[in-house]
Amino acid sequence: MALSIGIVGLPNVGKSTLFTALTKNQVEAANYPFATIEPNTGIVPVPDARLDALAEIVNPQRVLPATVEFVDIAGLVKGASEGAGLGNQFLANIRECDAIAEVVRFFSDENVIHVDGRVDPLSDVETIKLELIFADMATVEKGIQRFGKELKADKTAAARVELCQRMLAHLEAGHRARSLTMTDDEVAVIKTLHLLTMKPMLYVANVDEQQLDSELPEIDGIRPIPICAKVEADLAELDAEEAAEYLESMGLAEPGLNTLIREAYRLLGLQSYFTAGEKEVRAWTVPVGAKAPQAAGVIHTDFERGFIKAEVVGFEDYVALGGEKGAREAGKLRLEGKEYVMADGDVVHFKFNV
Ligand code: GDP
Repeated sequence: MALSIGIVGLPNVGKSTLFTALTKNQVEAANYPFATIEPNTGIVPVPDARLDALAEIVNPQRVLPATVEFVDIAGLVKGASEGAGLGNQFLANIRECDAIAEVVRFFSDENVIHVDGRVDPLSDVETIKLELIFADMATVEKGIQRFGKELKADKTAAARVELCQRMLAHLEAGHRARSLTMTDDEVAVIKTLHLLTMKPMLYVANVDEQQLDSELPEIDGIRPIPICAKVEADLAELDAEEAAEYLESMGLAEPGLNTLIREAYRLLGLQSYFTAGEKEVRAWTVPVGAKAPQAAGVIHTDFERGFIKAEVVGFEDYVALGGEKGAREAGKLRLEGKEYVMADGDVVHFKFNV
């Protein structure tokens, strides 16, 4: 699963600065065969202290965290939906992402020009929201035409046309597609259109250093994640010891990037389970609610096809009992079947047969 998050924002808000800081933390591509290394993407580890706890017990040759991919999506300006700036290319790049992180400028530096001549986060958010909504309106209009052509041959097309008309009115009223009340079946139809405003979204408030621990206003009902891109860029240049000192001098427990990555993971409805062996301790990503065979399939499709059972130890038990052996002896190693719903942090061995 290559989960990707597109970084968007108006020009000069700090996207590149943030993206550069993120990519300094990139994982080694050799360990992640699915990773395609392109200049505008960075695959970064999901910080998870539980991996260290497991590694301490198992002493593996390597430790591999879960990952998320960030994509630097340059060029969103007012009018992008009509082809201004990088226009449609830009929109196509967002379409391929699973979620959107919008960087919003809160920092006040006079030396950095704001495209509209003033720092106004809420108005910037509105500008981008409208561009995304305009792009979606065009997509939905095409959908209405496409489904309309099927009306004679397929009775279900009428409901799809009606749904699209309802969606169009919703967008025209300035709302994101995501906020329209729909049945599961309707959501499935709308998903085929790949609308930009259906994607989960988070806001990154690029603040001045002094604003880092101040309360920020909600944006669209969401609390933005405060980050100082400049500080993150500086931190990324330092070695571990220097970085720790710098963080301490700023009164920060960890880099803002860590919070951002974790929030992104949560936003996407994801959790991790672990495999722990002498060769490697590794975190794997599954959607919350995934059953055991689906989780096995993340490692290899054969594991899912030939799934027999899973040996599972809860993370707390695993650590408290000093690993698999201790857990087994204490009766805390469970055998789970096809219907088992994975819990966050499960330490798992899959048994399969192909
Ligand atoms: P982009 O156009 O959104 O990619 O913005 P950049 O990352 O290129 O940043 C634009 C300018 O703002 C650069 O000169 C950065 O050094 C500066 N900048 C970025 N983040 C911060 C910040 O947190 N504080 C201050 N003062 N300047 C920043």
